[in-house]
Amino acid sequence: MNTLQALVVVTSTLACGICPAQTCHYDDWRWNVHEKRAVQNMSISKDYALLADYERDAQSGCSVCQEDQQVIHIQGLPEFSVCKKYAAKAQETLTRLINSGAYIKSVTGYRVGRTRGEVDAQGNRTDFSNHSFGVALDINAEHNGLYIHCIEFGPQCQLSRGGPWRPGVDPYSLESNGAIVLMMKAAGFKWGGEIAGRQKDFMHFSLTGY
Ligand SMILES: [Zn+2]
Repeated sequence: MNTLQALVVVTSTLACGICPAQTCHYDDWRWNVHEKRAVQNMSISKDYALLADYERDAQSGCSVCQEDQQVIHIQGLPEFSVCKKYAAKAQETLTRLINSGAYIKSVTGYRVGRTRGEVDAQGNRTDFSNHSFGVALDINAEHNGLYIHCIEFGPQCQLSRGGPWRPGVDPYSLESNGAIVLMMKAAGFKWGGEIAGRQKDFMHFSLTGY
């Protein structure tokens, strides 16, 4: 290698310190609605430049790639990851809540999986959830369940995932006028406990609430 070639190598190495990731890694799976379990688990590794539209969230620009996620460390909470674009917002908001004594024991952010959208011939969901892009957060899932048949909350609602929601009884259950919901909404995250439709997802926050 002559001096000029060496210079080119050094320059391109330095330049790539600010380049997007070259490779995208993520663990894919599909939810089977008949078997009620995750199927077709596989680890994906592909050229970042070859990401398909369905591997990226149109609203946020965040992707399913681990390389687009950032680990969040907050004292008193197990670590979790979110899309880098929202990492500072999530860190700041949840740190303020924890420091003000809010009842938060668990947070889940980035978690890839096809749990939404059309069902294929085998009964597998085909679209990625918002958690797959790191743009959704679940808080205290064990105390803020996902309910189905639940246009409005009442005895007809059926708990589908997580633990029962008992606002006013269980301090870890979120409330519409509580500090956690109000501060998360002020930070730009809508609450799954207030979405229209047949599901209420009381643990869930995202840009759309879904
Ligand atoms: Zn969620």
